[in-house]
Amino acid sequence: MIEHKQVKSALQDSVEHCCSGRESIPTLQWISGTDTLHTFFNQSWLDFTGRTLEQELGNGWLEGVHPEDLQHCLETYQSALSCRQSFQLEYRLKRSDGEYRRLLDTGRPRYTPSGSFAGYTGSCIDISDRQQTEDALRHNQLFLQFLFQNVLDAIVVADDQGRYVDVNPAACKLFGLSEEELLGRRITDFTEHKFNFKQTWQAFQEQGKHCGELTLRRLDGTLRVVEYTSTANVLPHRHLTVLRDITFVELAQQKQLQRSEAHLAEAQKIAHIGSWEFDLTTGAITWSDEVFRIFGLDPAQGAPPYSEYLQLIHPDDREILSHTVQTAIAQGKSYQLDHRILQPDNSIRQVNGRGQVNFNSQGQVVRLFGTVMDITERKHAQEALQESEERFRQVFAQAPIGIVLSTPDGKLRQINQVFCQMLDYTEAELMALNFTEITHPEDLTSELPYIEQILKGEICSYQLEKRYFQKNGAILFAHLTCGVVRDLQGNVIYALGMVKDITERKQAEQDIHRQTRYQKLLAEISLRIRESLQIEVILQTTVTQLQQLLQADRVIFYRLWPNCSGQVVAEAVVPEWSSTLGRVLIDQCFEDKYLKQYQQEIHAWSDVEQAGFQPCHLEMLRQFGIRSDLIVPILLKDKIWGMLFVHQCSAPRQWNKFEIDLLRQLADQLSIALAQAELLEQETCYSQELARSNAELEQFAYVASHDLQEPLRTLASYAKLLSRRYSGQFDQKGNRFIQYILEEALRMQALINDLLRYSRVGRQGQNFAPTDCAAVFDIVVRRLEEAISNNGATVTCGELPMLMADETQLVQLFQNLLSNAIKYRSSQPPVVQVAAQRQEGEWLFSVGDNGIGIDPQYTGRIFVIFQRLHTQEEYSGTGIGLAIAAKIVERHGGRIWVESALGQGATFYFTIPQLGVSAFSGRESG
Ligand code: ADP
Repeated sequence: MIEHKQVKSALQDSVEHCCSGRESIPTLQWISGTDTLHTFFNQSWLDFTGRTLEQELGNGWLEGVHPEDLQHCLETYQSALSCRQSFQLEYRLKRSDGEYRRLLDTGRPRYTPSGSFAGYTGSCIDISDRQQTEDALRHNQLFLQFLFQNVLDAIVVADDQGRYVDVNPAACKLFGLSEEELLGRRITDFTEHKFNFKQTWQAFQEQGKHCGELTLRRLDGTLRVVEYTSTANVLPHRHLTVLRDITFVELAQQKQLQRSEAHLAEAQKIAHIGSWEFDLTTGAITWSDEVFRIFGLDPAQGAPPYSEYLQLIHPDDREILSHTVQTAIAQGKSYQLDHRILQPDNSIRQVNGRGQVNFNSQGQVVRLFGTVMDITERKHAQEALQESEERFRQVFAQAPIGIVLSTPDGKLRQINQVFCQMLDYTEAELMALNFTEITHPEDLTSELPYIEQILKGEICSYQLEKRYFQKNGAILFAHLTCGVVRDLQGNVIYALGMVKDITERKQAEQDIHRQTRYQKLLAEISLRIRESLQIEVILQTTVTQLQQLLQADRVIFYRLWPNCSGQVVAEAVVPEWSSTLGRVLIDQCFEDKYLKQYQQEIHAWSDVEQAGFQPCHLEMLRQFGIRSDLIVPILLKDKIWGMLFVHQCSAPRQWNKFEIDLLRQLADQLSIALAQAELLEQETCYSQELARSNAELEQFAYVASHDLQEPLRTLASYAKLLSRRYSGQFDQKGNRFIQYILEEALRMQALINDLLRYSRVGRQGQNFAPTDCAAVFDIVVRRLEEAISNNGATVTCGELPMLMADETQLVQLFQNLLSNAIKYRSSQPPVVQVAAQRQEGEWLFSVGDNGIGIDPQYTGRIFVIFQRLHTQEEYSGTGIGLAIAAKIVERHGGRIWVESALGQGATFYFTIPQLGVSAFSGRESG
């Protein structure tokens, strides 16, 4: 035990010791005069400095003084001298070996026997060693003193009776007493529980050391918890104890404990983990709050005993849990188990239970403790995750689209079967590839910027139509939707592509495009075909256009004759291949095969060599180099009229459905064009025939009427003569017969005249000249004067025009219509109205009457020669009048018709085209 007073005395001892050895050390001595100059140095001095007396005398010795001490040395010396006092001075003097030694120089004034001041006498001792020891001791002392005074731990020093003989400030603070109050007290003055001090003190002194923790009760009653270490006999009979106040540490620890318990509870709550203990010896079960929460129970009720606890376990899991716990106890092993529990409302929760065992000293399990964690949500999440993973797997495997997972740098990592099938690769083959290797280079250029953007996170996904290469190099058109999957840090883990095969759609688009082009071309060809009404031109146009459109080697039109033979009548052939124009292609085997088989439908042979034709047929095809053949029947009025052949000679050719469709439509157009042309041909024939027969008829009529007139006149003359001269000689019957002959001869004459007139309309027509219709009307009215007056008829006309016409024929036309209007009168006096009105490019005339009218079903027939609706007895006539009228109108380029109903009168209309200038004549007749 170190005690500072002890330290002080030890120091004293040491100084004493140094001083006691003074005699043994040679003293360096010197003498100086009143002028301060040294006059003597003893031998010891000279030995010490290693210099001569001469060197040292006067102020010479100062050369050996340490420069730092010189000033101090001189000053002390001077000031002492001035008042003639003794002095003590420390300075360092250089020894003969060069080392500075510290000297204690003591100077005393010197007096002559007379008592006058004679200077100083001095003696020096080397105190270098003493100084060092003294310094060390002083430092130690100061340090200990400092420590003792300032250390935060309390230090008390006790004597053999345990009474405090020295205490530091920290001890005063700890005990709440001043140094004086504390000194002389013992530890028993401060312990709460009294104990056998003597015995304890004894034991301490024997052991030499004691440490522990105790609670001090201070004199004011407050408590302090301390940790202490006591050491016996630190110095003889001195026992030192260091005490540390840990009251606040204790408190803090308690608080910390409370706090960490609160934290634990909070953590348990957050993590849904509760902790429990099961003391097997007492059967006591302890639950943390969270266990109560998990089980849906009130903590105030306390944890249930084990048997009740088992009832809280889902019935299906009860046995396994019970068994697991039993095994853990029996085998002393920890366990963990996922099981279900039932909450009071019967809702089921999933928990993860963990248990550990504690053993007693005999190695028996005495305690189980562990945790229970609510994993319902986690289970749900797991199930949801599993479900979602399963769903993804299902989608991946069964989606009708290709799905591809690739690394951010494009290596294919996972591929579904659909994608493999799309590209016709195996999964393993694709896994070895990068997406760039299966992408069309042109599309890669457009896709790469997207990939860059998506990797940078500028876009979330992109869509693109692109081309992939299949294994055999063929192209697959696809629609790609690509997105990326990122980790929590936002880094792209992989890219997910969904690929839809759109080849068919693309094909369809191309087809539509081609179809549109074909339709346009078809329209053009049809137009050209229709432009002509000549069959040869139509056929030639067709084959030429078709050959160009289909880029075929040869297109021919084969005309089939009614006798089943036929001939190539039109052809367009590229120069490399021979012409078949004019050839008769159908031989025996050809005829059988084709005509029946190919009449109705288009037939396409992509390769005739593979078509299974008869050898003779094949031979014929080879003769013209035909390799691929398209045959289109051309029908006219449902009968085969001919065939279009499209030949590819250079190589086989697959005819696509658009080409076939195009030909089908073209065949229809061709049929129509041909039908029209044929119709025209027929019509031309008919009209030529008609003109010829008309001419013949006119010739006949003229000849007949001319030649018949003469004998008829003779016949009539003689019949008249007979009647006049011999009328008395015949009986009544004879007279009547002669009368008949006369009548019929006259009728015959009229007929012949009419016929002659009819035949003259075409043959003897005048040139057209300006004709005043009003004048014509007047002529006719004058000619019919008798009939008009006999019938009491009224014949009027409106304003009639001047026309370019044949006046004689116009007179005949009006006469025929007006005479009929009077003749076919009803019981009413005839009223006949003639009118004319200008229409676009022509004049429309009407002749209306109030006569018997005509049944509408006969209105067409009456204009045909010899057609009459009445007998001679009813109305006389020849049935030629309206035929002549029609012919005259026709000659003038107009039309004639009648509108009527029986008993309603009739109105005859005719038109005369307006040739040159024509206008109303400005006259009116009544
Ligand atoms: P026909 O010499 O018999 O009069 P047409 O050629 O002049 O010969 O007339 C042909 C037929 O048309 C007549 O037989 C008559 O039945 C009918 N017909 C002509 N004009 C009239 C009319 N104005 N009213 C009624 N019937 C008429």
